[in-house]
Amino acid sequence: MATLKNVLPRSDNVLFVFYDFETTQDKKVTESATLHVPNLVCLQQFCTHCEMKPDIDEDCERCGRRKHSFWDDPIGDLLSYLCEPRLWVSKVVAIARNAKAFDSQFILNRAIQMKWKPELFLNGLKLCPLR
Ligand SMILES: [Zn+2]
Repeated sequence: MATLKNVLPRSDNVLFVFYDFETTQDKKVTESATLHVPNLVCLQQFCTHCEMKPDIDEDCERCGRRKHSFWDDPIGDLLSYLCEPRLWVSKVVAIARNAKAFDSQFILNRAIQMKWKPELFLNGLKLCPLR
């Protein structure tokens, strides 16, 4: 077992991405229930170079454009974006606005379809971050 150290983890090589899905509810699954189908995902990102820059519309010299929207295949496009190779990145941390109740379901479903084996952190019946 590793001993605890009184040192903050380094985040120099971490890209933080915050995302939010928008959905349609046009598809009925029962008489009273509809299926949420993502039709848009918006994300904003920062790294240690741009985290204190208040203008999200200003590109970062390190992580590039800091706002993105995907609507052709919101889930697949988000996952593709998160998995893009970046030379300076050792880890991408993706945080959903509503992960525990909603947004993680879409990611988890796609991961299962692609036969990924995500590690889940559960808090009761709520989903916590995937990795
Ligand atoms: Zn940046």
